[in-house]
Amino acid sequence: MKKFLLILLMTPMIYTNTYEHPKIQTLGLSYDDVLIIPNKSDAVTRASASTKTRLTRNITLNTPVISANMDTVTEGPMAIAMAQYGAIGIIHRFNTIEQQVHEVQRVKRFTNTIIEKPLTMHAHETIGLAQEYMEAYNISSVLVVDDSDRLVGILTARDLWFNPSKSMLISERMTTKENLVIAPAHINKKDAKTLLLEHRIEKLPLINDDWTIAGLMTSKDIYKKDTYPNASLDKQGRLLVGAAIGVKEDAMDRAKALIDAGVDVLVIDIAHGHSILAIDTVKKLKQHFPNIDVIAGNVATAEGTQALIQAGADAIKVGVGPGSICTTRITTGSGYPQLSAVLQCATEAAKYNIPIIADGGIKNSGDITKALVAGASTVMLGSLLAGTKEAPGLPFIKNGKKFKVIRGMASFSANLSREVNERENNDLKKIKPYVPEGVEAIVPYKGEVIDIFTQLIGGLLSGMSYCGASTIDQMHDEGHFVQMTSGGLRESHSHDVIVA
Ligand code: IMP
Repeated sequence: MKKFLLILLMTPMIYTNTYEHPKIQTLGLSYDDVLIIPNKSDAVTRASASTKTRLTRNITLNTPVISANMDTVTEGPMAIAMAQYGAIGIIHRFNTIEQQVHEVQRVKRFTNTIIEKPLTMHAHETIGLAQEYMEAYNISSVLVVDDSDRLVGILTARDLWFNPSKSMLISERMTTKENLVIAPAHINKKDAKTLLLEHRIEKLPLINDDWTIAGLMTSKDIYKKDTYPNASLDKQGRLLVGAAIGVKEDAMDRAKALIDAGVDVLVIDIAHGHSILAIDTVKKLKQHFPNIDVIAGNVATAEGTQALIQAGADAIKVGVGPGSICTTRITTGSGYPQLSAVLQCATEAAKYNIPIIADGGIKNSGDITKALVAGASTVMLGSLLAGTKEAPGLPFIKNGKKFKVIRGMASFSANLSREVNERENNDLKKIKPYVPEGVEAIVPYKGEVIDIFTQLIGGLLSGMSYCGASTIDQMHDEGHFVQMTSGGLRESHSHDVIVA
């Protein structure tokens, strides 16, 4: 008997059902594994639903979408479009600090009720230089000041008609102070609008008593404000924009430069966010810059979520391996099916009232709706936006069709670009071996962001109606899923017909 017991104790436990094995935690589900259960809707029209949501602890958006911090997705033009439609763009960090700051400034200068720090130049500088600045910042005027920063004139795009010589001085073309319509610093918007209309001018410099510049109002900005009623704006009426930083040496310098440029939120960009590097970076950022909201990630577990929140994060980005261009799961064997990751991270974050961003793997508006029902407050999109006009890079033709490039930021090609940029004399021999976790790919050209948004947000609003919710909070509380088989997925797509 004793001998038998000993043998029994020495025999390793045999699990007949793998789900019971302590090494297998649970069944992980993806967006394609579930459907939202239709629920009674009280809405008469889907337009009565609100997509207002929380991006971070302190920032709200009217549209729950974020464009990804990838160099084929978000630079100035994409971030401008995002913010105009109530969403937000995160400027990628795969450039110099100066270049990234420049992209943030493009967004911040784009639309203001009052431009507080308009670009200024001196009368003895050249028209060529003024043109360069105007192009770089996408603006159509510069204010001209003397050595004591007092206004002496304005140079507008109109003054540059008929290609004046680049070496000509600004003083030869500008409208001088005597012929300018100006207004006092404290003028209100209504009076400013009247002045702009009465004089049929586009720019209204605002000045202090000593003729130093207090700001600039433009008719275009007032018009833009009326055209984009849902725009994401900061307290000064400028478009919201975020920017990514890494976790290495230059992170704090980069953060400071971006904050000085007016960035609204920082995103810690690291693939494995449940790491000491990410946790320490959140702590350092919160210590040095307590007034800026920090999005931290990427994580896929409740423990990762909790660690980043306890370090001070104001929102958590969820997603390890779901991205369209991502090969992390294949290269490393690690990851977590995205729907389950969002579900468990959102449950944990809700305990601290911190919002979740579902990052990667969104293929259509149905996936956006599923991510929100799972508990996310916003979604981050890469491939769905990379084909638009506003994404960096030009479209090209292949087999008679238009495409744009998208690349994983951990792809071989992105790494090669980084290595080349960092080398002064393009010494490619020094490039270290690299293990990619992403690929370079192409996506069909899709025209302007607004066309994609019409489809995505239209689909989301319908989805909200199916799940019986008129707010994102209600989606969190009342939406439920049914898990389906591959048969259910096949049935979900159009089938047994040839799609025209
Ligand atoms: P998508 O919307 O499915 O295209 O996913 C976009 C997301 O993929 C980004 O927001 C990143 O989180 C992630 N991502 C970007 N580049 C890479 C990469 O090279 N490897 C793994 N994930 C990546």
